[in-house]
Amino acid sequence: MDISLLLLSWYQDNRRILPWRKDKDPYHVWISEIMLQQTRIEAVISYYERFIERIPDIFTLANISEDELLKLWEGLGYYSRARNLKKAAMMIMNDFGGVFPSIYEEILKLPGIGEYTASAIASICFGAKTPTIDGNVLRVYTRMLEDERNVDLSRTKKQIREEIEKIMPKDTGNFNEAFMELGEVVCLPSGKPKCEVCPLKEKCCAYKHQSWSKFPVKTLKQDKKEYFYTVFLLCYQDKVVIRKRTDGLLKNLWEFPSVLGKMSLKEIKTLLKTQNIAFKSVHKSVSHKHVFSHQIWYMQAYVITLTKYEPSFCWASGMELCEKYAIPGAFQPFLKAFLHNI
Ligand code: SF4
Repeated sequence: MDISLLLLSWYQDNRRILPWRKDKDPYHVWISEIMLQQTRIEAVISYYERFIERIPDIFTLANISEDELLKLWEGLGYYSRARNLKKAAMMIMNDFGGVFPSIYEEILKLPGIGEYTASAIASICFGAKTPTIDGNVLRVYTRMLEDERNVDLSRTKKQIREEIEKIMPKDTGNFNEAFMELGEVVCLPSGKPKCEVCPLKEKCCAYKHQSWSKFPVKTLKQDKKEYFYTVFLLCYQDKVVIRKRTDGLLKNLWEFPSVLGKMSLKEIKTLLKTQNIAFKSVHKSVSHKHVFSHQIWYMQAYVITLTKYEPSFCWASGMELCEKYAIPGAFQPFLKAFLHNI
């Protein structure tokens, strides 16, 4: 039996029941694929259901306010994905009459959609012969062949894409999903793969030679840059000061004011005095380490109780922080600390 038949028959018996697999609606597949970038399936399910309930179609997505969209996205991270969804929905409304495009090249033009996502939508929803080359597929493929090409190189991905295209069956959508799912649940990225239950084991060179840990071959990763931040929870009665980030990582999301670098209690008090901010007390609160794809933030918060309400600041109550403002994951531990103390 060839690889595609083995994969399809395994998938038919083992596919997971997921909310976006109920139909082949490109809107559903698109939203799920964007959410699944950088996020585990288990974590995405509840976000996806909440998102589809509030934003059931392209028209609603094109017209929703950015603040509400980011609030719905809160906790998923990589917020540019949400902004691109809205931009793409507006483009579909303007350029495609509100109908999701069905041609791979047109799908690829939409903001936030790269080759992988365009291939997934085109194959799953429209039967196009477009292989989805993600980390799971690359792992299964290179292990199966003991393929020593560096999968971080775009040249390798292009070659593998062409090779897989040649073995794709008619049922391209299920083939792509089967390949990816096998990589996710059987040919595991870390730890021992579950070769005993793998439908490809008879064809797999890495299984034959027990060499799976050597594949896929990748470029050694550079260390992430590390930054230290001091975070200020400026409180007055049941409210705390927030501000909108204007640039860099997490742009346009809300945060508790922070400065780059570690500050001592003494330095914070001096800073407050030079800024003419009258305070009753300052004390050390929680710390948090937040890991992004290229950076690590070490954050230390201080609770500063002010003696009076400063009208020039943007204040929020606990309820407003939970319901109205999108607070990114990096600042969630400080939100919890604030909610715990009011
Ligand atoms: S046999 Fe093992 S190493 Fe080979 S593809 Fe299957 S799970 Fe991966």
